Amino acid sequence: MPGTILIGVDVESASEASAGYARYGAEMLAQEATPATWYVTGSTLERYPSLFAELDRAGTVDIQSHTYSHLLLKTVCIEVPPGRTVHGKTDWYIQPGGTNEEIDTDLDRCQKLFEDVLGRRAFGLTCPWNYYRGLMDRLDLLEIVRSHGFRFLRAFGRNEKDGQPTPLEWQPFFYAPQGFGDMLEIFIHDYQDAFYFIQFNALTDARTYPDHLRKVADRVASDNLVWSLATHDHGCADRESFEQKQFWLRELIRYAKSLGIRFMTGSEYYRERIEDSG
Ligand SMILES: [Zn+2]
Repeated sequence: MPGTILIGVDVESASEASAGYARYGAEMLAQEATPATWYVTGSTLERYPSLFAELDRAGTVDIQSHTYSHLLLKTVCIEVPPGRTVHGKTDWYIQPGGTNEEIDTDLDRCQKLFEDVLGRRAFGLTCPWNYYRGLMDRLDLLEIVRSHGFRFLRAFGRNEKDGQPTPLEWQPFFYAPQGFGDMLEIFIHDYQDAFYFIQFNALTDARTYPDHLRKVADRVASDNLVWSLATHDHGCADRESFEQKQFWLRELIRYAKSLGIRFMTGSEYYRERIEDSG
């Protein structure tokens, strides 16, 4: 079997970009007949309840959570590589995480919105910004996240310098050694989006991103790897900007399918792993 791609989109802007993504992103995925999971912030659901409820009812995409307010669970400390500028910094970039109490309150609020808007709770969670080691070293956070009903996570999406890319050698795992054997980490691999590909390679634009992605797909197919691929709703308010922002996604989907790579939602992948482990 030549590999698996899990497309995960952070729909987080709670702005016209989110509404635009709900229209054009869903349309593109339907045209390509490709499953994907959207990790939607509670604040975005709150702003556009009917748009996302309709997508959820239609089953076009697997809608899961990206917290209520985009609160970080852990602090991110990026050691910027020499000669690079990341988030405007050339040495260190620090983005602070929330307190456990703030996280608990945020996830509770998010799940209540999922119930109000979609009539169900979320099962998967993308932790904002992602971290090195995911939640491996934070049993307290695993406990909080599990208590809110989450069973699969994208929390591990940075390398040991909190930078990019996140190596594909690191493959999905259960948090069993930590005592949470039914919680699956599915990662965000490679670059979290084109903007990080540009920043971590000191480029001026994303022109070479499609080439890079094709090479990653080649490796996924030859080594039968799982690739958890991320992108965002940023700057997707109208059709033209959507096409400009996501030009590489449609291309990659077609190329990966030509190699025989399968696409799954996060929920489908979780169920498969649970069945295999049982
Ligand atoms: Zn995000």
